[in-house]
Amino acid sequence: MLPVIALVGRPNVGKSTLFNRLTRTRDAIVADFAGLTRDRHYGTAKLGKRQFIVIDTGGLEDSSEGAIFQKMAGQTLQAIAEADLVIFMLDVRAGLAGQDQEIARYLRKIGKPTLLVANKAEGMKDSAQLSEFYELGLGEVYAISAAHGQGVRDVLELAQEML
Ligand code: GDP
Ligand code: MG
Repeated sequence: MLPVIALVGRPNVGKSTLFNRLTRTRDAIVADFAGLTRDRHYGTAKLGKRQFIVIDTGGLEDSSEGAIFQKMAGQTLQAIAEADLVIFMLDVRAGLAGQDQEIARYLRKIGKPTLLVANKAEGMKDSAQLSEFYELGLGEVYAISAAHGQGVRDVLELAQEML
């Protein structure tokens, strides 16, 4: 079995963009509309000779606050359950959101190895923008730009070390 990595986060943080970059496909629908990708989506990523299965998730479509895990499609929970590692994506431009806190609480509770990634960080000069994400209690935060490819390879290397 190949190691499985699930991309998780609230709508519009850039999960499908990262999925496409990691898997080098255009299979996942990248849209300017939050929550368009509604199904779990599998692809493979390569780092040297190592291969990984990557799952794009489109859950968490309901952007209202509270009880998020009752509202979200069970497919995201299933993807998390299937994964050896979760890449939990945040939007550095939007900042920390209530939904991020809820996802973090769930990931802490189940104790799944999690890599925190702050996306849309292209052109970001000041790492102080990342400081609020440490409140999530999931350790180190890595700045990337899925759209521009910055930090993406590093994230895959970190993921490999954690697997
Ligand atoms: P998802 O809902 O989490 O799957 O997010 P998408 O991958 O569909 O991206 C949502 C929006 O964010 C789209 O308009 C993307 O073009 C944009 N986006 C994704 N990654 C980046 C990035 O690294 N930088 C910027 N500025 N925008 C991004
Ligand atoms: Mg998507």
